[in-house]
Amino acid sequence: MSLTKHVIEPLQNKGSFVLVLNTEAKIDGQAEAMLQALHSRSTGGIKHHLKVLKEKGAENFMEKFYVGYGHKSIGDCGSATVFVEGVSMLAAKAIQDWRLYSGQEASTRYVDFSKQTFLNPHKTKTGEKILENWRNFYLKIQKPVQQFLKEKYPRKKEEDETIYNKAIIARAFDITRAWLPAGATTNLAWRMNFRQFADELMMLRHHPLKEVQNIAQQTEKALRQLYPQSFGHERFSKTEKYNQYVMQKKYYFENTKAKDFQLLFNNIDRKILKNHQQEMQKRPPKTELPNTIAECGVVGYEFLLDFGSFRDLQRHRAVAQRMPLLTMRHGFNPWYLEQLPLDLQKEAKKFLQEQKKLIAKLKTDKFVKQYYIPMGYQVPCRIVGDLKALTYLVELRSTRFVHPTLVQQILKVIASLKKLFKKDGLILHIDNTPNKFDIARGKQDIVEK
Ligand SMILES: Cc1cc2nc3c(=O)[nH]c(=O)nc-3n(C[C@H](O)[C@H](O)[C@H](O)COP(=O)(O)OP(=O)(O)OC[C@H]3O[C@@H](n4cnc5c(N)ncnc54)[C@H](O)[C@@H]3O)c2cc1C
Repeated sequence: MSLTKHVIEPLQNKGSFVLVLNTEAKIDGQAEAMLQALHSRSTGGIKHHLKVLKEKGAENFMEKFYVGYGHKSIGDCGSATVFVEGVSMLAAKAIQDWRLYSGQEASTRYVDFSKQTFLNPHKTKTGEKILENWRNFYLKIQKPVQQFLKEKYPRKKEEDETIYNKAIIARAFDITRAWLPAGATTNLAWRMNFRQFADELMMLRHHPLKEVQNIAQQTEKALRQLYPQSFGHERFSKTEKYNQYVMQKKYYFENTKAKDFQLLFNNIDRKILKNHQQEMQKRPPKTELPNTIAECGVVGYEFLLDFGSFRDLQRHRAVAQRMPLLTMRHGFNPWYLEQLPLDLQKEAKKFLQEQKKLIAKLKTDKFVKQYYIPMGYQVPCRIVGDLKALTYLVELRSTRFVHPTLVQQILKVIASLKKLFKKDGLILHIDNTPNKFDIARGKQDIVEK
């Protein structure tokens, strides 16, 4: 298939770009939106609207009713897919920090990140040195960690060798990713409706990181090329100024006094919850609670988690979350060090101290410093959700297929939820061996046949 029909815009870092997918559909996103809008405004029926679409096209319609009149809900009715390549983990998180984001991101559990570019926005030799030190260490520990894991979890007779080896490699990536800097580049897909794109881009263009601002500008430019009538919104200076204030001053979350784990608040109304007792008690495994339980209110938690695992937690859109600033003040998650062979443990600790000193030397702000900090460092995570969202999250994120550092903290959320709501009828279906090494992990890769 020719690439020329897709819209590609380069990003500021060499080799990185955004690509808006052109599916060449006869009825594209804009046309679909027009059909739905017409359908809501006349009784002519879809067959008649399809005729109008064929005669007039969707272009003028979108310009006039969606962009022109700011009738935002029309923008809900058409979608676009953008592929973003070669951006930092920080930028990927910024894009995904949206409650209606859909998409997929490259996994550090199945992809060897040693060949990825590590971004050096500070553009100094020291910056380059810090990043290359991380890369060398990541590369150096791969094989010894795999060997160590093979000794720890020897292959059982009944286990297929290929799947076993894949599971060992995946587990080794789980451990070694802690030494990958957040400036390591990744790829992601971003699928949303037009309105969400417009609303999110409005915030991202004021993001504290220049890299994200650039992604926002180029994505908007690319979307405008494919859907010119849907992405020509006027900018209002007061709104822009306000969004700039929110993004630059209030976006990143910091808590210098963060604790390992804490229940922030329980705002569930017990009287209303009583009406939902039956739904909670009758729910079978792998089944979600009904949405209506959200009427009871929300519970909030805050806990420390390494940035690597935060990346998975953050994907849960049904709970409200803050974006933590990645710093070194909350320490390196000890789990990663404990997984190394003894001789490497000592070396790794010393190496972390040396790198910390080098990072401290960088004369730049706290936002840019994040690029140089590896993903094993902990950040304070805040999650606030209703009982449906929290139940889904804790059940999915406490299985043996989830990263152990995330499981460790989710088990604390589970204990707290049980303590609070068991008497009200809440039942949680939990993996009873959450930390077991299961080679089925080796089957979870997606490979071409
Ligand atoms: C073992 C494992 C491996 C994975 N590997 C990868 C990977 O390599 N790459 C990757 O990109 N992803 C991967 N994922 C999936 C990714 O992390 C998911 O996006 C993540 O699990 C959160 O999405 P969710 O739909 O599961 O949960 P949520 O976003 O919490 O959604 C839970 C439910 O609530 C609904 N919902 C969503 N948003 C809202 C809202 N705002 N209000 C109300 N309801 C809402 C959803 O439709 C869903 O029914 C993996 C997941 C697992 C468990």
